[in-house]
Amino acid sequence: MRNIPHVAIIGAGVGGLTTAALLAQAGYRVSVFEAQTYPGGSASTFTHKGYRFDSGATVAGGFQQNGPHAVLGRMLNINWPVYQHDPAWIVHLPDRVVRMCQDNEDVLAKFPTSERFWQKQRSIAYLAWQMSAEGLPWPPQDLAELLQLTQVGWRHFPQDVRLAPYALQSVYERLRHLALHYDPVFVRFLDASLLISAQATSKRVNALYGATALDLTRQGVYHVEGGIGNIAQTLADKVCELGGQIYYRHFVTRIAIENGRALGVYAKKGRRATQNVLFPADFVVANTTPWSLESLLGEQAPRSLKREIQGREATYGAFVLHLGVRADGLPQDTADHHQIIRTIDGPMGEGETLFLSMSPEWDTARAPDGMRAVTVSTHTRIDRWWRLLETDYQAYQNAKHKMAETIISRIDEVIPGFKAATELILPGSPVTYEFYTLRQQGMVGGFPQTSLFGARGPRTGIANLRLVGDSIFPGQSTAAVTLGGIRVANDVMRHLRF
Ligand SMILES: Cc1cc2nc3c(=O)[nH]c(=O)nc-3n(C[C@H](O)[C@H](O)[C@H](O)COP(=O)(O)OP(=O)(O)OC[C@H]3O[C@@H](n4cnc5c(N)ncnc54)[C@H](O)[C@@H]3O)c2cc1C
Repeated sequence: MRNIPHVAIIGAGVGGLTTAALLAQAGYRVSVFEAQTYPGGSASTFTHKGYRFDSGATVAGGFQQNGPHAVLGRMLNINWPVYQHDPAWIVHLPDRVVRMCQDNEDVLAKFPTSERFWQKQRSIAYLAWQMSAEGLPWPPQDLAELLQLTQVGWRHFPQDVRLAPYALQSVYERLRHLALHYDPVFVRFLDASLLISAQATSKRVNALYGATALDLTRQGVYHVEGGIGNIAQTLADKVCELGGQIYYRHFVTRIAIENGRALGVYAKKGRRATQNVLFPADFVVANTTPWSLESLLGEQAPRSLKREIQGREATYGAFVLHLGVRADGLPQDTADHHQIIRTIDGPMGEGETLFLSMSPEWDTARAPDGMRAVTVSTHTRIDRWWRLLETDYQAYQNAKHKMAETIISRIDEVIPGFKAATELILPGSPVTYEFYTLRQQGMVGGFPQTSLFGARGPRTGIANLRLVGDSIFPGQSTAAVTLGGIRVANDVMRHLRF
């Protein structure tokens, strides 16, 4: 046992657990430290008054044949508790309603001039999904990753070379090329979709990345039985089955560093505990944002990481509502997922664009009899909430309640009866998010995917410390952090042989 290397993983998000399970399967000693009493972080499901609410993520993609979850499932022999649903969701624009189905027919019916855009879109995305299933360690951080990339590139030659121009374009440039940028409703429709999948809109999102993100509904969207947190729970069960250890309610307060190497992590049991215990490790993987990583390293943070933090703009936060809604108060055959886009110009997020998900009626474990567990989210700037909290606590509470009321009224405009059917309201701001996920200032969703050449990899400036999760390429979503988790596990195995 003494000769088996030990890897400490900070955080039981989907990225951290993916790495943990693969390392445990390869025979490493693995310990995962999770502050909460349940796994999943931004893609967790928590219990409250008989409901099982999805805390953030609600839509699960990547379970199709070559999707990241399916690939990982085959590697770990996991049968995911998922069921595909079609339509994936309904988009409510000011002047039209679009059913987002796998065949894309309603999108073409509602935006007839967009056919050429979707044709090209499909071929770009097809190749990108195929290549990512084989492993795309981008940006390559050593010779082994460069070699892996070259091999994948070679296998898909020459189709991949034809895609090269898109690596330098934005989605908007593709639209302009097809004169679709003249259609403000279509641009808005794409922008709202890109904002939730790539954290920026068409003018900024890279065309290759955007093509993959916009392909989600065609690839298929799935319900996770019991709530999206069961992706993480399934992984956590696998980690334990493979001999790994998960320490819940353990807050990592510091990463121990000596002579430029990580020696292990200091963790305390419970938020209020004062005693920090050192868990020695040969390698540390942080399922955190770079900001949180820097604060775990304190004075020992490498200069490159400090420079990165100083140079980076804060990312988005989320305002989230968890609602208990009477099923019989909703119109019959209401779909489970809805995206609401209130205007075709002006800012997005802040309640102007919303994503709403209801627990499926068949998943009775999600809510008390006759009720549905609903999660609604909208992008929000984090600074506004922290400023209010620091200057005037009552004003912060009032702002939360006002935002909740506004959002519920806006849902009621497209799902009549929704407001009257709502019996339980739990609002959450970036402050709430920081508390429950330990993501600094409640920044969620990773970095905007604007340039492939600015993408962040897992390296941290410390030889035996890696970052995993939605701050590294390919960014946010349970599917994307799974790809990142596989890459980091391979990286650890290359550097910590036994
Ligand atoms: C509102 C919202 C909606 C979203 N919708 C979707 C969606 O529909 N579909 C989709 O696929 N994705 C969605 N996402 C994105 C997706 O949830 C995330 O990209 C993904 O879950 C992030 O995983 P991660 O591996 O980065 O870990 P995180 O989710 O960040 O989890 C990290 C874990 O580490 C723990 N941790 C951190 N620091 C410490 C520490 N010091 N000590 C102990 N534990 C620690 C945290 O408690 C947490 O459990 C959404 C995100 C949000 C916020």
